[in-house]
Amino acid sequence: MYYPNIREIRIDPIVPSQSVLISTARGKRPRKDEPPPTRDIREFVESCPFCRGNEHLTPPVVFQVPAKGEWDIRVVENLYPILDDDPLPLGLPSGIQQVSEGYGHHEVIIDHPNHGIALHQMSEQHLALIFAVYQDRMRFLYTTDPRIRYILVFKNFGKAAGGSIPHTHSQLIAMPIVPHNVQDEVESSRLFYEKNETCVFCTLIDEALTLETTTYDRSSGKRKQSYDTGKYFVERGEYFIAIKPFASRYEWEVHILPLKHQSNFLDATTEELDDLAWVLRQTMARLEAVVGEVQYNYFLHTVPHVNNSSDFVDSFHWHIEICPRVSIPSGFELGSGLFVNTISPEEAAFKLRQAIEKSSTC
Ligand SMILES: [Zn+2]
Ligand SMILES: [Zn+2]
Ligand SMILES: [Zn+2]
Repeated sequence: MYYPNIREIRIDPIVPSQSVLISTARGKRPRKDEPPPTRDIREFVESCPFCRGNEHLTPPVVFQVPAKGEWDIRVVENLYPILDDDPLPLGLPSGIQQVSEGYGHHEVIIDHPNHGIALHQMSEQHLALIFAVYQDRMRFLYTTDPRIRYILVFKNFGKAAGGSIPHTHSQLIAMPIVPHNVQDEVESSRLFYEKNETCVFCTLIDEALTLETTTYDRSSGKRKQSYDTGKYFVERGEYFIAIKPFASRYEWEVHILPLKHQSNFLDATTEELDDLAWVLRQTMARLEAVVGEVQYNYFLHTVPHVNNSSDFVDSFHWHIEICPRVSIPSGFELGSGLFVNTISPEEAAFKLRQAIEKSSTC
C-alpha cells in the first residue's frame, strides 16, 4: 500500500489542547547508522537484585504470587522512591510559589523470574496474573491510605525507555494528586460527553471497527465520499481492542482499551483480564515484528480515586498506552511540547496489521 508524504498538525481527539506534528518526509532524511539496541536476553544474571535467589538484595517483599515458595511475581518497595510516606520538611513557600508534600508510595512489581523475557514471550496466563497483581496492589493502597487520589502503573522496558534495571518489571506510584495528563483526559472526555452524550473513547473504538463509511447524495443516490475509518485498527479480542491513535505522539504508539465502556480498571473481571493478556501479547508481537527489539513505556490510565469519581463513570474509559521509543525527543519537542511523528499513523497501523503473518511468535 502506498502512503503519500504528509505534513500536518493533528489535534488529539481526546485532549484537544494537545497536538502532534505528523511529518513523514522527516523520517526519510539520511541518518548516520546507529548500532541496533541490544536487549539483555539472559534468563538469569548473578548480580541482578530482581533475579530469583537474590531476594536479599531488594527491600522487603510486600506481596508475592504465589504467597509461599518460589515466586512468579514479586512486589517490593522501590529502593529509590520518587514519592515516600516518610515526610521530609517542606521548603518554605513564598509568594505564588506553592509546594505540597512529596507523599506517596512507590512499588516495584518484578513481573517475571526470567531476567530478559519480553512481554510477547510470556504466557497469557502469566500476563493475566500481572494485571491481577496490579489490581490487588491498587485495591490495597486505595483502601489502606485515604490520601491517595491516583495510582499510576507503568513499565519502562529497555534503556531507551528509561529502564534502569534490565530485569523485566513494572512500577506503581500512588500519589495524593491526579497527574496532569490524566486530569486533562478526564476533563476533556467529560466535556465531550456533555456535548455529544457519548464517550469519546467509545466513539474512537466504533470508528476503528468501521471498515468503511460511504456517504451518498440524498437526491441523486450517487456516492459522495468514502472514508476508510478502519485504518486505525490493530488488533481485537473478545473484550479488548488495540488501536493506533490518530494523533500518535510516538511512531509506533498503540492504545489498548476495553471494547465495552468501562471507566475503572479495577472493574475488569478475571475473564476480561485473560483477554487483555491475549490482546497485549499479540500487540507486542506485532511491534516486535515491525520495530525489532522494541523498547517502550506503557502507562495505565484509569479513572482517578477522587470524591467525584462517579461524575466520570460515563465519560472516561480506562486504557493502556504503549509508547515504543525509537528516537530521542528533540529540542523542538521539549521546548514546544509539540511531538513530531515521522510515520503516518495510518501507515503504522497497516504495517502492524500486516505483521502478524510475518510474526512467528503468534
Ligand atoms: Zn534479573
Ligand atoms: Zn467509553
Ligand atoms: Zn491516556
